[in-house]
Amino acid sequence: MNLKHLLMTPGPVPLPDFVLNALSEPMIHHRTPEFSNLLSNTLNHLKLVFKTKQPVMCVSSTGTGAMEAAILNTLSPGDSVLVVVSGKFGERWSKICETFGLNTQVINVTWGEPVDLKSLESLVNNNKFKAVFSQVCETSTGTLQPIQEMSKIIKTNPECLFIVDAISAMGAIDIPMDEWNLDVVVAGSQKAFMIPTGLSMIALSEKAWGRYEISKLPKFYFDLKAEKLANEKKQTAFSSSVSLIRALNAVLEKWSLKDFKEQIVQCTLYSSATQSAILQLGLSVFSQSPSTTLTAILLPESIDGQKLRSHLEEKHKITVMGGQDQLKGKIIRIGHLGYITKEDLVVTINNLGLPLIELYPDFLNQSQLDQCVSELKKNLDL
Ligand SMILES: *Cc1c(COP(=O)(O)O)cnc(C)c1O
Repeated sequence: MNLKHLLMTPGPVPLPDFVLNALSEPMIHHRTPEFSNLLSNTLNHLKLVFKTKQPVMCVSSTGTGAMEAAILNTLSPGDSVLVVVSGKFGERWSKICETFGLNTQVINVTWGEPVDLKSLESLVNNNKFKAVFSQVCETSTGTLQPIQEMSKIIKTNPECLFIVDAISAMGAIDIPMDEWNLDVVVAGSQKAFMIPTGLSMIALSEKAWGRYEISKLPKFYFDLKAEKLANEKKQTAFSSSVSLIRALNAVLEKWSLKDFKEQIVQCTLYSSATQSAILQLGLSVFSQSPSTTLTAILLPESIDGQKLRSHLEEKHKITVMGGQDQLKGKIIRIGHLGYITKEDLVVTINNLGLPLIELYPDFLNQSQLDQCVSELKKNLDL
């Protein structure tokens, strides 16, 4: 591979050199004082990112494993739960709930929209849900859900837990777990934490830990109390993902100096610059409530998103994501998380414009693209 391949997806994300260096360090055994110190340092830092007094645990699995753990550790077969489904990841919550025999009700939200708080309120008031599930950012549509407002509604029922998938948000959007009264929060390594896929993070509120004691769903690998007890001894319940935790620690050490504000600032700048650029190209933002962590671009009917995406991949070595299911071919998703420079974003937007000119000359011309790119550079202070 001679050309630099640009990974502009909302996870996995490009890794900074200091992460690559951490990953290449020699292996050490996980039952050593050296690793114990690394682990406890990492877990302490994670509490600052989650903004919680509760322990944050690392699970050696992709984000979905921690989603499953959230359910197994707090609920029992037959429990009534409500899932906010506004895209593919909301569907995943509901599939896991159904798999484990929960009595699963769904609010179907039009893809790209935030949940209607009035509908949520009436469902919560008229049912005895043991838990409500949502994404912070629904990555399949680039949509942010109003988590703080949702939490206030859900908390009117003291029996109901609020279980939140923050996998594509935690570390790049402020989600103060304790202040917002969130009961279970799940995060993942390959998104804002900018390390490889394979590690997830999870924290439970005091109330959720109380629910653990009565939860009857079977759990072994994902038994979070076993993990918590092991963590108290600066160990993990099973073999530790030493390299991933070392890389995560390197990121958190950098962040502790700046409170991960740098990543928040990057995402805010990149998403607003991307939004203005695509409007200038004659395209639009798909979401009614766009997340700063990625931008979903809505293409006009006349443009084939799959063709555009493969053109970017094959000709320009830039990977972006398309849409899934009902959005197949209709949207392009560009990630703003991880080690992406301003220049990378400019190259991506420019190379998104080039095939539009080539394949759809009536839609865009070169001088419009030039103008868009020069304004984008200005917005990015380049
Ligand atoms: C990436 C992602 C996941 C988890 O996916 P894994 O492939 O299991 O790591 C879950 N939810 C959201 C919102 C995501 O963006």
